[in-house]
Amino acid sequence: MPSSAPPTPVPAKRVERASSSADETREPATFRAGTVALLGRPNVGKSTLLNSLLGERIAITSHHPQTTRDRIAGIVTKDDVQLVFLDTPGFHSAKNRLGERMNELAKQAAADCDVAIFMTDVDAKTAQSGGVRPEDEKILATIPAGKPTLIVLNKVDKVHPKELLFPVLEAYSKLRDVHALVPVSALKGSGVERIVAEVGKLLPEGEHLYDAEEISDKPLRFFVAEFVREQVLKRTRQEVPHGVAVTVEAFEDGKKQTRIAVTVHVAKESHKGIIIGDGGKMLREIGTAARKRAEQLLGAKVHLETWVKANPRWFDDPKQLAELGYEEGAPAKRPSRSGPNKKKKKAARAGSPARNPR
Ligand code: GDP
Ligand code: MG
Repeated sequence: MPSSAPPTPVPAKRVERASSSADETREPATFRAGTVALLGRPNVGKSTLLNSLLGERIAITSHHPQTTRDRIAGIVTKDDVQLVFLDTPGFHSAKNRLGERMNELAKQAAADCDVAIFMTDVDAKTAQSGGVRPEDEKILATIPAGKPTLIVLNKVDKVHPKELLFPVLEAYSKLRDVHALVPVSALKGSGVERIVAEVGKLLPEGEHLYDAEEISDKPLRFFVAEFVREQVLKRTRQEVPHGVAVTVEAFEDGKKQTRIAVTVHVAKESHKGIIIGDGGKMLREIGTAARKRAEQLLGAKVHLETWVKANPRWFDDPKQLAELGYEEGAPAKRPSRSGPNKKKKKAARAGSPARNPR
């Protein structure tokens, strides 16, 4: 997947053609735009799909479940369609307030979206048993009746021969009246274009919700915090990850470089030691890897300072959750299609990553 030097943005503008009377009288193609919720168990590959569709690594992925905590709107704009994706945290049994909040966010996304994508995964073993996972039935039930829905079966690269997929597809197709059932490999990028085509047909007619070159409505500082969190998840042992949050303390654009200071909040004093590592080695590695990704996204040199703070039980304390950005009132509202609001939205999103960071 190309992560540097993305292609020059192509504004969604109709190409001028040499005039012929037939072209001059032709109606413009219908443009469709709307929001799409990506729902499914943790680890089925929702963030990987989003990254594959965007062609840039925006959503963080990991082999630890529950990596995604926010609703990341990844924006995919094609000639005649714009899909605004809400990446949801994935349903799971909530063990604390953070877990509950994550389930609420996913449920809310299912209610708010124009089209719901329910994602599940297969491997050789589950394909052989051919059944539907009970958790999947529960998640499907949270999608309001009548909501246009697609079922996406991910990780089909793990199943050989492909005939093994047929009974699985059949079992899922019986669960709900869905518009389409799409087998994909988000990791390899196969089948993902069909998702765009199928969702496109279901979205309401309307103009762009976001500018064609934008890929997210989140500010750059959000992604820098996520990149740091991703490196912590990748490099630490099982006990640390779920107690980690990252905040950005400073974000200053200089002439030569952008100075960013982040704090990694951990739940226990002992986790602090793990993240800092011997002589600070682990923290340096985390910082270097996160800085490289931040430089790619920003298209500028970055000076990244990383601090670690023990913040006991932050994931159960409403006040601390709010401070860390997990309890900020209602989840993001559906973007409006009207003119004046669009301007306001743009100002609020100043600094959002666009497709041409360099
Ligand atoms: P999420 O929790 O649903 O967002 O899942 P992630 O996107 O973080 O993916 C979880 C894990 O599954 C990661 O290790 C991915 O690399 C892996 N994964 C995702 N999609 C595929 C796929 O199509 N094939 C295979 N083999 N692995 C995948
Ligand atoms: Mg995810």
